[in-house]
Amino acid sequence: MDYNQLTSPRTVKSLMEQYQVRFKKRFGQNFLVDRNILQKITACARLQPDQFVLEIGTGLGALTYALAQACRQVLTFEIDPDLAAIFRENQALDNIHLVCGDALKYDWGSLLRTLGWNRERVSLVANLPYYATSPLIVKALESGIPFDPIVVMVQKEVAERMQAAPGTKDYGLLTLMIQYYADVEITARVPRTVFIPPPEVDSAVVRLSPRPPRVQADQAELFAVIRAAFSQRRKTLRNTLQDLCRDWGISGERLDEILTEMNLPPAVRGEALSLEQFGILTQKLTASKK
Ligand code: SAM
Repeated sequence: MDYNQLTSPRTVKSLMEQYQVRFKKRFGQNFLVDRNILQKITACARLQPDQFVLEIGTGLGALTYALAQACRQVLTFEIDPDLAAIFRENQALDNIHLVCGDALKYDWGSLLRTLGWNRERVSLVANLPYYATSPLIVKALESGIPFDPIVVMVQKEVAERMQAAPGTKDYGLLTLMIQYYADVEITARVPRTVFIPPPEVDSAVVRLSPRPPRVQADQAELFAVIRAAFSQRRKTLRNTLQDLCRDWGISGERLDEILTEMNLPPAVRGEALSLEQFGILTQKLTASKK
């Protein structure tokens, strides 16, 4: 099999037929069949020959081979044993290490080390399954692996939520969790027509550039405040924080004082606050804990 043909719809269909394997919607199987977009994804990652790459969702391997030609080692995960078997039977480059299983369940750092990774540059590049986008990205950002960068194809709406600014409809928990760890840039818009089978929504390629957090507050406490603030979007910030304040032994009066100290009007909603403001709010709440 010529792996450069894996972006051809005809090759994808004939491989699936030859092995009598069906596309599984539950695993988010929408294969990319557009060489231009594939090149945009790899160009966006600015790969170097001596680096490592981690991929989630090998599929038939279109992206995997493009990555393997541009770097030292690819560690790729595929949850579907049928697809993993097709890939292994046809594997044409030996710098690809495929793990058949759910990427969420593995320790990525120790697997990379078994491939010889010793803190060299490593990027995460993936056309992600839509159903598991957020947990996979959060795992990457919290893994302690210094991904440089993370380039992922995701549903267009999710990309917009990641990049959103305060006060917009897309701004929320996901925005803040991602922007706590990384700078976000949408680098390409991708129509649904370049996948087999086509999904119900359009996609986008996003580059996340992880960097040290710019917010001083404790991470667990900050995320608890943000989670509470977005638990009910229609409520005021003050109301959404009441339960958390009760748990932390902070009175309603003290909460009002904090909002006043921060020059926040009583009716303000969580979506109006920047990440930095959430940081200050968290520090003030933490300092008032009983
Ligand atoms: N990389 C291929 C491409 O670009 O054509 C396939 C991308 S497809 C959107 C997502 C792939 O991820 C599917 O092959 C699916 O079986 C696999 N997958 C889904 N959930 C997974 C998980 N939790 N861990 C590893 N692979 C997963």
